[in-house]
Amino acid sequence: MINSAQLTILRSYARKPNPPVDLPESILFDHSDKTLTIFDTYPKSIFHFLILPRISAYTGDGYTERDLTSLRTLLKGGQEKAGRVIRDLEEAAKVCVAQVEEEMVARYKFKWDIWVGFHPVPSMEHIHLHVISADMVSSSMKNKKHYNSFIPKGDFFLTLKDVSEWLEAQPSFFRKMAELKSSEYEPRLKAELACFHENCYELFKTMPQLKAHLQEEWDKRMAREKAKRERLEKLKRKSGSKKAASPSASGTTADNSQASTSTLTAEDLVELEGSQKKRRKTDESDVE
Ligand SMILES: [Zn+2]
Ligand SMILES: [Zn+2]
Repeated sequence: MINSAQLTILRSYARKPNPPVDLPESILFDHSDKTLTIFDTYPKSIFHFLILPRISAYTGDGYTERDLTSLRTLLKGGQEKAGRVIRDLEEAAKVCVAQVEEEMVARYKFKWDIWVGFHPVPSMEHIHLHVISADMVSSSMKNKKHYNSFIPKGDFFLTLKDVSEWLEAQPSFFRKMAELKSSEYEPRLKAELACFHENCYELFKTMPQLKAHLQEEWDKRMAREKAKRERLEKLKRKSGSKKAASPSASGTTADNSQASTSTLTAEDLVELEGSQKKRRKTDESDVE
C-alpha cells in the first residue's frame, strides 16, 4: 500500500530549489535547470532511474503544479504545451541513457537495451519518465503488476517514442491517445506472466518461477558475452602472434591477411572463426 507521503514524494523533490544540497546522493543522480534524474527507490531492473520536470522551471511559463501531476494532466494542456515538457525530459533521458550505457560497460563489459517511457496510470504524483534497463532482474521486482508495467509486450508501458509521435500526430488522434483511461490500461497489468525476451515468451504461473527464469536468462546472457569476449581476445592474440611469427615470405593466404587486421570487432567474429577453422585444418595437413 502506498501512503500519502509516498504518493507525493516526487513532487516534493521537484520543488527543491537546490537539488545537490536539498537531496542526498542516494536519491539524486543528475540534474539540470529543468529536470532531475533520481534513482528509483525500488528499482525493478539492474538500472532504474526517474526523470522529473522541476516545478520552478515551468510555473513561470504557464504551467501549474497540477499540470505536471501525470502524463495525462500534462497532455490535457494540448500538443504544444505538453511537447515542451516532454522534449525537456527527452533531453535528460538521452544523457541518462548514455550514462547508464557507460556504467553497463564499466561494470558488466557489455551493453543491453534500455527502455524509456511513462506509465499511463501512475502510482505516484508528479510526471516522471522511467529509464530502466531491459533485464527485470532485481529483488524489488516482486509482483505481476511490477513486471507487466514495464515489459514492452505488456501494452501498458508507453515508450517515449510513442508519446513523442502522438505530439506530432493529427489533433484528433492526439486527443484520443491523450485520454489515457485507466479502465483501458489497468486490466493489461493482469495479463499472464510471459518472459519478455525475444524468441522466448515462455509463460509462467507464478512470480517465483518467472523470476528464476529471468535470472537464468540474465546469467546466460552474461555467459554468452563473456565467451564472445574471450573468443575475440583469443583471435586477436592468434592473429597478432601469427603476424609476428611468420614473415610475409611464407605463403600468406587470404585468410591470414584477413585475420591480421588490427581493428577486430565482435561483428567480424563469426566470419573470422570460420576462416580460423579452415586454417587450422590446413595447418594440420601441413604437419602430416
Ligand atoms: Zn512510475
Ligand atoms: Zn525467457
